[in-house]
Amino acid sequence: MKLELSRVVQGCRLGKWTGLGKSAQHSLEVPGCLLYTRCATVPHLTQDTLHTIRDLPAVTQVSLDSLTTNLCLNDTVIFCSLHDSVKPRPAGYITNKTVSVWGSGGRMELTTARFMEIQAGIQPDCYQSMADGETWQANTSRKRVRKAVDRTLAHLDECLLLHQKTQELKHAEIFGVVEGGDVLEERLRSARETAKRPVGGFVLDGFHSAAMGPDVRAQLIQATSAELPQEKPRSKLHLNPSQVEIEQEARKSASETEAVSKAVGFWKRPQGSAVIVLGVGRPDEVISCVEAGVDLFESFFPFQVTERGCALSFPYAADPAPETSVPELNGESVTKLDGDETMTLFEMNLKDKRYKDDFRPLVQGCACFCCQKHTRAYVHHLLETNELLSGVLLMLHNTSHYLGFFRALREAIACDHLQDFKNRVLRHRKAD
Ligand SMILES: [Zn+2]
Repeated sequence: MKLELSRVVQGCRLGKWTGLGKSAQHSLEVPGCLLYTRCATVPHLTQDTLHTIRDLPAVTQVSLDSLTTNLCLNDTVIFCSLHDSVKPRPAGYITNKTVSVWGSGGRMELTTARFMEIQAGIQPDCYQSMADGETWQANTSRKRVRKAVDRTLAHLDECLLLHQKTQELKHAEIFGVVEGGDVLEERLRSARETAKRPVGGFVLDGFHSAAMGPDVRAQLIQATSAELPQEKPRSKLHLNPSQVEIEQEARKSASETEAVSKAVGFWKRPQGSAVIVLGVGRPDEVISCVEAGVDLFESFFPFQVTERGCALSFPYAADPAPETSVPELNGESVTKLDGDETMTLFEMNLKDKRYKDDFRPLVQGCACFCCQKHTRAYVHHLLETNELLSGVLLMLHNTSHYLGFFRALREAIACDHLQDFKNRVLRHRKAD
């Protein structure tokens, strides 16, 4: 598993994450997204309907708080995260030794040992290390943020040790989690320290909050990414546990530099490492994170849009040929739902009565099953009558549109048209 970069333009990294899956045959283009799931399936969609969408991501994301006992993802490359970014989670349940996740059966308190047992059961291809991510609320104190970084590094060290001893995770990669809230100094420390460990990639956590303005987020991510080397020491599957213990002892006993250079000597290197940001999904925020050096995203955003009865409709395609898929806003203004502060200007509200007799597809030229077969009026009717089919059709369109956005973003980086692409996507953002 490695990230091969083909271009870096204005901070944007274009490339391919290769060698994925048990057979190492799968790959994922970056910038790109993982396939969002709940209970190991894409919400609203069956396998049949899901596969009407072209170019599905090769990597599926499962989270520990939406796990199901019958996990049927045999042929899939899995990235396992701790939390589902869409689900709210109560604060105040993290201790020095444990984190909590909320599944269907209520709260599960996880020690690193329990966390690793679950990972051994899932056998993901890669997974994020256990982390204290409870620093995203506004006004979190510096002391609390520092503690979160320390705990997360301690969890990572324990997870790495257990990882080496777990036969079921022999082919898996562990991703180190960078915490630090909105404190730049702590973000940098977290990134620097995590990069010293033999991780397969990096997870940037704690950027979910609406409390963090887009500019602060972009600056923090940019600074953090700069601390994460493109070529770095990586997973050392050839190491045995005793060697890992030597590394840990070395860290404790010797000076930091000496310990690290001693440890680095054991590691197989170098390979590119992927950077995943959690909790960021809006197209404008995705673009800004890509410019800051992020490779991969979750894809919960199309699901959130579907849940509020909306369809993604922002333009992203350049120079559209008339017969190809050309998502356009059709010159319409966007109407927000009354009292719905979550709706963004990248979507249209199909619950709006204006679509009652609108017999056009959701987005003119979109090649998805919904737009090919159905109309805005039909989806409006399904929403009005609370038909489950509305979720299916919207999820098909929204996922398809979102993947098309990432495809167009990669093309724009490849062809040096990034500014045009940004102008196109962001022109509706001004009024948001
Ligand atoms: Zn469509």
